[in-house]
Amino acid sequence: MSEFILPQFQHLKREYDAAVRCNRCGFCETVCPTYTATGKETLSPRGRNQAFRNILEGKLGDAAAARDIFSTCLTCHACTNVCFAQVPVVRIMGAARKISQTPLQNALARAAFRALLFNRRALSVVLWLAFLLKRTLIPRVLRLAGVLKLISRPLAAAEDLVEEAPLSFGACPPKNSNVKGNADVALFSGCGVHYLFPGASQAIVDNLDARNTAIRCPRHSCCGLIPQSAGDVKTARELAEKNIRDFGSLRVKTVLASDDSCAGFMKSYPALLPDNPDAGSFAAKVKNLSEFLVALPPVAPRPGASAPPVKVTYHDPCQMGNGHKSFSSPRQILKNLPGVQYVELEEANECCGGAGTYSLKHPELADEVLEKKLQNIEKSGAEVVVTQAASCLLHIAYGSRKKKWSGKIRVVHLAEFLSERGST
Ligand code: SF4
Ligand code: SF4
Repeated sequence: MSEFILPQFQHLKREYDAAVRCNRCGFCETVCPTYTATGKETLSPRGRNQAFRNILEGKLGDAAAARDIFSTCLTCHACTNVCFAQVPVVRIMGAARKISQTPLQNALARAAFRALLFNRRALSVVLWLAFLLKRTLIPRVLRLAGVLKLISRPLAAAEDLVEEAPLSFGACPPKNSNVKGNADVALFSGCGVHYLFPGASQAIVDNLDARNTAIRCPRHSCCGLIPQSAGDVKTARELAEKNIRDFGSLRVKTVLASDDSCAGFMKSYPALLPDNPDAGSFAAKVKNLSEFLVALPPVAPRPGASAPPVKVTYHDPCQMGNGHKSFSSPRQILKNLPGVQYVELEEANECCGGAGTYSLKHPELADEVLEKKLQNIEKSGAEVVVTQAASCLLHIAYGSRKKKWSGKIRVVHLAEFLSERGST
């Protein structure tokens, strides 16, 4: 098929061949959150595949004209899940975003990723300063006065999205641990949970400690999902190669990811790095918290822990739910907790609109996608929504503030919920 592709796009033959597999049946449209929210064909999987083909074949002269078509994709994998041809829309969107952005935009994004994501010390400093500034309330005042939006729309959206700004990050190794022995488990402390939900990080290491499971806490890089989503596939691949090398040298049996977005992306390393012979064995070691815990014997509740009756539901983060069809382990764990009445959430695997930094770039569309999730949560009657990704935690909590659910319905990471119920 490469004879149809313009010479400057020949390097995208693999993605083009994948897009050509789309037979335009439209079967995916009803599960695509951006299509159901807007009703626009261009914002459907079929429309996006077609726009990508048109650019590569020279039928759409200006690739920049399609920038919104590609950047509004939530990369939620829902379309591929129902597609008979298994068209990998998320992978195609990675390539599409790069060619629809200007060279300057791509260069600036790559420079930022390289400065912050390989060695997270720099990212820690930048976020610590940003969170300190947020605590002064100056950004909030500027946002409420409408000034922050004039300076930067993503910054204004970020100020609204993030309520808590922690000044200490992560929590590993466990404090006061008596656990001895060689660790078979290494923690991959995903950026979102590490920087924004340190309580969840702490709860994960406490949980393993309570099970007499030693855990290693290596310094590591970003999983690569952030640059991949921005179209910088080269940087995503380099980060993946580095993680495979770094964790490979530890010789552990499990790479335990604190965030489902990282877990799902690292499980996809074999597709990202088809020529790397170690990608498959690395991906096979990656687990999210529920996959890891469900294989272990349950622990007795902490002495004195109270477990009052509570109605609980679960929201599936896209990268693990749609991306890897990993649905059963969190439900199995929640249903077995004393005092928990588990209720299923309608369309639990549909994206909440958080999608990494999506809600900062497209706040209005993200709000529309979120509204459906919030309605389903209300309908479920649950008092607690449990999930395992920082992006979903942030976005659903933001929605619950807008709905003024305070004290009625809350969203929490699985690790913290287990800790609250005395199951660590
Ligand atoms: S992406 Fe798949 S399901 Fe959607 S229109 Fe194309 S072939 Fe059909
Ligand atoms: S990945 Fe999600 S948002 Fe993107 S086209 Fe597919 S279903 Fe729609």
